[in-house]
Amino acid sequence: MPELHSSLDALARKVTHRLIWHSPGPRIDVRPARPIVTFTFDDVPDTALTAGATILERHGVRGTFYIAGGLAGTTEPGRRLIGADQVGELADRGHELGCHTFSHPWVRRLDKPTLFADLDRNAAFHAEHAPGVTLKNFAYPYNAPKLGIRGEMMARYRTCRGGVPAINRGKTDPAFLRSIEIRPPDAYARTLTRWIDDVAAEPGWLIFFTHDISDTPTPFGCMPDTLDMLVGHALEKGCEVLTLDAALDRMAVPERNR
Ligand SMILES: [Zn+2]
Repeated sequence: MPELHSSLDALARKVTHRLIWHSPGPRIDVRPARPIVTFTFDDVPDTALTAGATILERHGVRGTFYIAGGLAGTTEPGRRLIGADQVGELADRGHELGCHTFSHPWVRRLDKPTLFADLDRNAAFHAEHAPGVTLKNFAYPYNAPKLGIRGEMMARYRTCRGGVPAINRGKTDPAFLRSIEIRPPDAYARTLTRWIDDVAAEPGWLIFFTHDISDTPTPFGCMPDTLDMLVGHALEKGCEVLTLDAALDRMAVPERNR
């Protein structure tokens, strides 16, 4: 769920990002034989299902949808979030469901018991609405992580996605995957092919994230034609387009990184 950042939040986020990069912990070695591109959708707006998932499927590929169960069925300016009854549909259509917390908080503002209870609640939500699905990967709301929870998060998830805009290559922190946002204006979103060209030239793992997929997107979304163009461009350039979890399997990353 988008929210405008205050300058204080932006500063706190920047400092946290820097500290996390330098905190010890296992790293994964991202050296795929072929470049990998992953498309992810956060929250998740219903157009990410009706338009986004459909576009990926038309190309014969699948995406990762980081769902916050507490948002399901709610309406916000410019978008409606998928209903609980649509969560299972994404899984049935072969897409990956990831965890995005239940209540979509600023994670660093929560103490550990509150945070972990929130994560448990999202797991329970998915157990009810997408039986048999395990949420293996996590994305921080607002891409804003929290210090001091690496061990617990890595015990729960294979990866956590953060917002530092870069390609994952070589030694990579699974607790803080880098990712590139697809957002308006459309003229800008269409230039994101440069990231695909970059990963195609030197294999690594490029993760995109966005929200609604609409001809009139919110400031956090993408137009259908542009998403279609980006997926097509990745495939034309010889990239494998994989879900988060399939990408980890392709790179033989162990199920848990403790
Ligand atoms: Zn979100």
